[in-house]
Amino acid sequence: MDEVPWHLACVRCAETYSGLDLRYRCDCSGTLDVIHDLSRCELTREILDSRLSSKDPLDRSGVWRFRELILPLADDKLQEIAAARGEGSTNLYDASTIGLEVGVEDLWLKHEGENPTGSFKDRGMTVGITLAKLLEMNAVACASTGNTSASMASYAAISGMDAIIFIPEGKIAFGKLSQALAYGAKTIQIEGDFDDAMALVQEICDSEGIYLLNSINPFRIEGQKAIGFEIMQDLDWQVPDWIALPGGNLGNNTAIAKGLLELHEVGIIDSLPRIAVVQAAGANPLYTAWTKGVDIEPVKADTIATAIKIGNPVSWRKSMRGITALDGVVTEVTDEQILDAKALIDAAGIGAEPASCATVAGIRRLVQEGVIGPQERVVGMLTGNLLKDPDIVVNYHMGELEGIESHRANAPVSAPADIDEIRRIIRQ
Ligand SMILES: *Cc1c(COP(=O)(O)O)cnc(C)c1O
Ligand SMILES: [Zn+2]
Repeated sequence: MDEVPWHLACVRCAETYSGLDLRYRCDCSGTLDVIHDLSRCELTREILDSRLSSKDPLDRSGVWRFRELILPLADDKLQEIAAARGEGSTNLYDASTIGLEVGVEDLWLKHEGENPTGSFKDRGMTVGITLAKLLEMNAVACASTGNTSASMASYAAISGMDAIIFIPEGKIAFGKLSQALAYGAKTIQIEGDFDDAMALVQEICDSEGIYLLNSINPFRIEGQKAIGFEIMQDLDWQVPDWIALPGGNLGNNTAIAKGLLELHEVGIIDSLPRIAVVQAAGANPLYTAWTKGVDIEPVKADTIATAIKIGNPVSWRKSMRGITALDGVVTEVTDEQILDAKALIDAAGIGAEPASCATVAGIRRLVQEGVIGPQERVVGMLTGNLLKDPDIVVNYHMGELEGIESHRANAPVSAPADIDEIRRIIRQ
C-alpha cells in the first residue's frame, strides 16, 4: 500500500508527512496528528445509526463503526486487516443518583472499563495494531502504567505479533500485570518510574525496528476519538454541556477533542461540549501549566491512581490545543477525594478503577466552584474496570490505606460459625 487518504502533520511546526511514514515525531521533535480529508466524508447520523443493527464485525465494533473518520480505508481492506474484537459499545449509565451527591442532576457515566481488556485503551489499540499490520511490522512495544500493556498484549496476540512491554517495577496494579503476563507479552520491569520506561521504549523501538504503541502513536488517538463519537450517538446526537475525564499522559482528552471537532466539521453534531480534564494532585503538570498559562514542566508523579501517575505527559501540546478549542478547564483532586468518589461509584453498582473516579471527584469540585452548573448535562468517563486494582478496593474498605481516611468504608464483618451470632449481625 502506498497511497492512503490521510497524512501526518506536526503539531508544532505544521510540517507534513505521508500517511504511512514510519515515524512518531516530526524532525523538529513535535508530535504528529493524523489529518483526514473531511470534505470527502459522506458519513451521516442515519448511516451510523443503521450500523447499530448490523451483523458486520466492523459495524459492531464501537470503533470501526466510525471508520470513515478514523482510518478511511476501503471496507474490504479493513475486513481483511482490522484487529477488531468487539471493542467499544460500552454502556452510558444514567447516574443521576451519583449526580445528586456531587451536585449535578443530569449526570451520565460512560463506562470504558467495559471494553474487552477492561479499559478505553482497547479503542486506540485496535487501530494501532491494525496500522502495525498495514506497515508489516512483526513486533510492537509500549511503556505502560498497566492498561496500555494489557490491551496491547491482547491485540498483539490475536494478530499473531510479538509484544514487548516496559513497566515501572512494583508500581502497576495487579490486575493489569496479570493480563500482560497471561496474554503472553515479554514483560520487562524497569527499575524506575513510568517516565523512565517511556524514554527507554522510544529508543528501543527506533533501534530494533519495533512498532511503538504508546499514545505518542497518532493512530491510537484516532481510535480513542470513537469514545466521543459513541457518547454522542448514545445521547441520540444531543450534545451534552460537558464531558469530564481523567488526564495522565493526556492522549485521551486529545482524542476526544480532536474527534468532536471533526464530527462537528462534517455536520453530524450541531454544537460542541466543553471538556473538563481532571488530574491527580500528585501528578498535575497539566493543571499547573494550564493555570499559569505556560508550557509543561515535568514533575515527579505520586498518586494512588496509578493509571494517571505520569509526570511528563507526552501529548501535552495536543491536549492544550484541544482543551482551548472546546473551551475546556483543567482541575486537580486529592487521592482521598478520588477514593471517596470511587466508593460512591462502586456502591452504585457501576464500579471503576481509581484513576477513572478522578472524573467524578473533579465534577464535584467544578460544581462547588460554580464552573459546572447544577442543571447542566454532564457526561463523565470511567476509563477502567473495578477489577484492575482489587488491592486498593480491599485496603480502602478495611481502612488500611496510609494517609487516607475511608469515609465510605464497607469493611467485612468477622463472625464465628454460630447461627445466633450471625442472626444478631444481620438484624443489626
Ligand atoms: C490510560 C488511562 C488514563 C489516562 O489516560 P491518558 O490518555 O494517559 O490521559 C486514565 N485512566 C485509566 C484507567 C487509564 O488506563
Ligand atoms: Zn515539526
